[in-house]
Parts: sequence; structure tokens; C-alpha cells
Amino acid sequence: MGKALIIGAGGVASVAIHKCCQNAEVFEEICIASRTKSKCDALKEKLEGGKTKITTAQVDADSVEELVALIQKEKPDVVLNLALPYQDLTIMDACLETKTNYVDTANYEPLDTAKFEYKWQWAYREKFEKAGITALLGSGFDPGVTGVFSAYALKHEFDEINYIDILDCNAGDHGYPFATNFNPEINIREVSAKGSYWEDGKWIETEPMEIKRVYDFPEVGKKDMYLLHHEELESLGINIPGIKRIRFFMTFGESYLTHLKCLENVGMTSIEPIEFEGKQIVPLQFLKAVLPDPASLGPRTVGKTNIGCIFQGKKDGKDKTYYLYNVCDHQECYKEVGSQAVSYTTGVPAMIGAMMLMNGTWNKPGVYNIEEFDPDPFMEALNKFGLPWKESYTPDLVD
Ligand code: NDP
Repeated sequence: MGKALIIGAGGVASVAIHKCCQNAEVFEEICIASRTKSKCDALKEKLEGGKTKITTAQVDADSVEELVALIQKEKPDVVLNLALPYQDLTIMDACLETKTNYVDTANYEPLDTAKFEYKWQWAYREKFEKAGITALLGSGFDPGVTGVFSAYALKHEFDEINYIDILDCNAGDHGYPFATNFNPEINIREVSAKGSYWEDGKWIETEPMEIKRVYDFPEVGKKDMYLLHHEELESLGINIPGIKRIRFFMTFGESYLTHLKCLENVGMTSIEPIEFEGKQIVPLQFLKAVLPDPASLGPRTVGKTNIGCIFQGKKDGKDKTYYLYNVCDHQECYKEVGSQAVSYTTGVPAMIGAMMLMNGTWNKPGVYNIEEFDPDPFMEALNKFGLPWKESYTPDLVD
């Protein structure tokens, strides 16, 4: 059917690329391009020989010029951005210049402040619409599947959704005292920032990790979880009519939190550059360099993830509760694609999002968050490509 240009060759990209190759009818050809070309070549070597034709390229995704030249050479139908959030705008600029569809899994982040908001990317709406191309924002799991779940619940289960609690549980154990399951820099920025939730049309801010709850997750058991700010709260607060409150909770073990506190206390999680031996370095980027590479956690991680949304609202005038979730097993993911479940649960929806644009199932010029499209074909594809979802009408609620 067509060709995708995949930018980035890290944990998430590796899964998305495996999945594209399992779906060769749609992804006849892919080009893997990243800063370190050897990582692209290693993926090509591993996956070559199937029906999908694979090429590789070196690119600095901070440079619009380099990106435009690459897109002009490769002529993809869609660019799937699986580099870091810092590159979102340069890649969007290059897509505009070459009139190519765009998909990502994380909102643009300026290097010097942790914001987790969409305003920079939403500012491209008119330009994309005029160019007749689509930007699909946030096609990972959260954001991503959580938005698709919300659109699906609204379409099939409710007349009005009033409350959403997004619960992200990773009960995996990698055996290290401290490691992050995806890019350490982004992960630590996210969890050391202030928490917030959306209530009655405005943000309520909390101190980092101030709000803690215990939840008994299906197929996983009881875990401590903490309220965090998360980017999809912003778009769902606007796109789901009738919403009164949306919160996001993520589970953390005691060891992770103790290490994080200590690293914070000594200044290692700061994103403010400091001078070290005559050179400017960002402490958090240095920390990333000494932590285990998330891509190396696959073989040693055991246990499951459970990510989903609890909805409360009204159907035919009556109160209703509905829980949609996915359970994913780290070792099963590793057996299938050589990665742990956190990369898997992001890489699969990234491939599906690219597929939705590539085969024209979703076709709407402009810049959109994922919940603004028809959820049904995406829900079907989740079942088909390794992230089957489950539902419950009687879940425990979070107080
Ligand atoms: P990794 O750090 O493993 O991979 C990032 C890749 O991007 C690396 O291959 C890196 O190259 C490449 N890259 C970084 N900067 C540039 C640049 N300037 N030019 C070209 N390539 C570059 O990250 P992950 O795979 O864990 O995460 C990828 C994305 O997925 C992130 O944006 C993350 O926030 C998002 N994510 C989204 C989730 C969701 O559910 N929505 C969940 C988890 C992650 P190099 O190898 O040289 O470092």
C-alpha cells in the first residue's frame, strides 16, 4: 500500500518497526532514519528478509533542512516521529514543506522547561489544513490508546462522560535498583514535575507525588499509584463534552521513588545546564548516560502492565460506570519482538496510527488528537496487533 519514514531507532521505534513488518500489506516499504545510523542498520539486519522493504538513513531531526532533504528523497506517505519530544516541531515543519502526513506519540517539549502541553503543536492546525495533510498527535498508549478508549466509550457506552480516571500500572520487575522503562530524561521530567488534574474547566495543581491511592488492578493486584500531570488530560478536557474531572495515576514502587528523591535532592534531575570542567552539561542528560538503556531491559523484565480508563457518566438518564483496559506481559512482548511491555504498548499504537493515515481510514487535513477520530477501526486493530482490550461494568472506583 505505501511507505513510512520512521524517525528514531530507540525502544519504541524498534517495536513499531517490528509491527510494520508484521503488517507488510500496508507497510510495503519503510525507511528507518535516526541520529545514530548503526542502530537503524541493526534493526534492518534483524528484520530484513520479510515482505517489507527496509532502507536506513542518518538524520539530525533538529534540522528542518536535513529532514526536508530526506523526505524529498524517500517520498513517504507518512512520517512516524519516534525520536524525542524536542524534535516534534522541526519534523512537523519538514512535513509541511513536503506535504507529508505526520504521526507522533508525545507532545512537543522545549528543552529548557518541562511543560507537557499541546499549544505549540495546536498552533499548526491551520497550516496543516491548508496544506491538505494530517498530523495525528499522541498515538502511543498514554497518550494514544487512552484517547481512543475515551472516544469509544463516548460513542458506544455513554450519552455523557463526566469523570475519567486514567490508571497506568507497570508491575514489571527488571531487577535493577533504579532504571526507567522509557527514555530516562523524558520519564524523570514527567514524574518530577508538579502534578495536576482537570476539574470544572480548570487545572488543579498538586506537589509532585502529593496524591497517592492504592488500586487493585485486574490480573496484577494491589499497587500504590500517584497522581501526575499527563498531556492527554489537556486534549480530553476539551474533546470529551460534559467532562467534569479527569485525573491520571501512575504506579511507582518504593525503591524507584526513594532513588528518585535522592537524585533530586543532589540535583541530578535538573534540566538547568551547569558548567562542568569548562563544558555546559544538563545534569538530567548526564544521568541518562549512566542509567541502563531502556532497550536493554527487555530480557530481564518480568510481570505485567495494566493501563486503562475508568469512565463515569450517564446513559439513558442513568448513572453508569465502565472500565476499559489492556493487560500486557513483559516476557511475552520480549519473546515476540525483543522488547519489554512499556515499549510494546507504545510501539503497537504508533504503527496503528501510521496505518490509519496511510490506508486513508482516517483522512482529515489539520492537526488532531487521537480522540478526534472514529475509534472503531483503531480498537479493532488493537485486538489484531497484540494489545487486546478488556472491559468491566463494575470496577472498583478511585476515591
Ligand atoms: P529512546 O531514547 O529509546 O529513542 C529515541 C530515539 O530518537 C533514539 O534512537 C535517538 O537516537 C533518536 N533521536 C534523538 N534525538 C534525535 C535527533 N536530534 N535526530 C535524530 N534522532 C534522534 O526513546 P523511546 O523509544 O523510549 O521513546 C520514543 C518516544 O516515545 C519519546 O518521544 C517518548 O516520549 C515517547 N513515548 C510515548 C509513550 C506514550 O504512551 N505515548 C510512552 C513511552 C514513550 P540515538 O540512538 O542517537 O540516541
